[in-house]
Formats: sequence, structure tokens, C-alpha cells
Amino acid sequence: VQSKINPILTEQGQSRGAVIVFHDVTDLRRLEKMRTDFVANVSHELRTPLTSIKGFVETLLDGAADDPSLRDRFLKIIQAETLRLQRLIEDLLTLAHIEGQGNRSEVRLSNVSYVQQAYNKIKPVIQSVAQAKGIQVEVDLPDNLPPLFISEDLLSQLLLNLLENAVKYTASGRVWLHVQTAPNHLCLEFGDTGCGIPEDILPRIFERFYRVDRARSREQGGTGLGLSIVKHIVEGIGGTISVNSELGVGTVFTCHLPRAI
Ligand code: ADP
Repeated sequence: VQSKINPILTEQGQSRGAVIVFHDVTDLRRLEKMRTDFVANVSHELRTPLTSIKGFVETLLDGAADDPSLRDRFLKIIQAETLRLQRLIEDLLTLAHIEGQGNRSEVRLSNVSYVQQAYNKIKPVIQSVAQAKGIQVEVDLPDNLPPLFISEDLLSQLLLNLLENAVKYTASGRVWLHVQTAPNHLCLEFGDTGCGIPEDILPRIFERFYRVDRARSREQGGTGLGLSIVKHIVEGIGGTISVNSELGVGTVFTCHLPRAI
């Protein structure tokens, strides 16, 4: 609480009392803290791959480049860290774009399943990870889906982030996307038979940079921003997202996206 005191004085300048105004600044402080935490997190996330790239380049220049096997190993690490930086910057730009301009744009594509089109864009990425792990991907997209207040690009991003997570955090079994039309919204269910998420941390997974297992996410190429981007996309068009998960059994994310008509 922040307070401000204004004395009440008589015409002769004698004190008659005071007006004390109390301001509840809890939300303001929380926002300030979120902003400084975010900047600290971004700096840390950018610095880690940069430090690694710098170290390996210096080692190569110091003579490691003369050994072909060492040189190739170090160059592969530099390449992986560069890709990581690129993904991070792309995710940060997507977040900034969604937050800055809003994302409500109506799409009316008659006789064309735009959900199918959005899925086609990302299908090769999902299929290649799934095939490498022997995971079965079931995507069931009805043809005549109602229009939504979302651009095809953002819809692709939403499908990509949730399906990529599903295949990333699943060792074997199935990953699915089921779509159903309800009177006021479209219901998208993303499920997997993966590792699951501990119940006590479920509410935190939509926070920026929050990961259940940092090392594992990093190893899988995650930035820790995927779900916060999804939440922004969904809530930006007035939708909702919820998650159910059981450790060792699997996870289901359910998105309700409001229909344009
Ligand atoms: P990341 O880039 O680490 O995947 P996300 O924001 O997409 O970041 O997800 C945050 C965290 O939530 C992940 O690090 C992971 O621990 C957990 N998570 C997300 N989706 C799943 C899933 N389908 N199954 C299990 N854990 C998941």
C-alpha cells in the first residue's frame, strides 16, 4: 500500500487535521516485478547460448580447428546454439507482436477448411519428430468448420506449439488433435500419452520461461515460451485454454475458440 498525507490548515496556517489517501499498488508492483523478471530471464536465455558460441569459437581459433574431429564436433555445437538463439528471438518477436497489436482478425474462407490449411503448414515438422520416435499422430479435422477470429498464421502457430510439445514430451504411444463444433465455439483437444505434468505445477506452465525440467526442454530445443504464446493467442481472441494431466499417463490441452458466426 502506498500512502499520501495532505495536511489541512486553517487560514492562519494552524493544523486542523490531515487527509490520508491509501493506494493499493499490489497489481502495479506485481506487473513491475513481472517485467523485471522477464528482462532478467530474456538476458539469461540469450547469454547462455552466446557464451557457449563464444567459448567454442575461441577454442577453435586457439588451435582446435587443426583437429578435424574436434573441429566438426565444436562446429555442430555452435550450429545448435545458433539455432537455439534464432528460435528464442523468433518466439520473443511473436510474443511482442501478439501483445503489442492484438490478434483479432476474422477469417472467412468458405468451403475451405482453414484449420486443415493451418495444419498442413506444420504437418511435416510434427510427422518427422513423431516418425523418428514411432509415435502415432491422429488428427481428425472435419471439413466444414465455422470461421474464427484468428488469422491462419496464428492458428498454425497455436497448432504447432501444442502438437510439437505433445510429440516432444511423449516417448511412445499416441498424439491426437480432435476438433468439435459447439454452438458458440470450436473445441480443439490436443492429447498425448506422454510423460505428464505434476499436478502442483500445472498452473505455472503457461508462464514465460517456465519449464518442468529445464535441461530436458533445452535438450529438445524448447525456449520455454511456447505455452505462453499459445495462451496469448487464445485469450487474445476471447477464447480459453485448460489442461489436464496425469504423470506417466499423458496430457490433454483443451482450447475453446469463439466462433465468428
Ligand atoms: P518448452 O519450450 O520448454 O516446451 P513451453 O512453454 O512450450 O516450453 O512448455 C512449458 C513446459 O510445460 C515444458 O517445458 C514442459 O515441461 C511442460 N509441457 C508442455 N507441454 C507438455 C506436454 N504435452 N506434456 C508434458 N509436459 C509438457
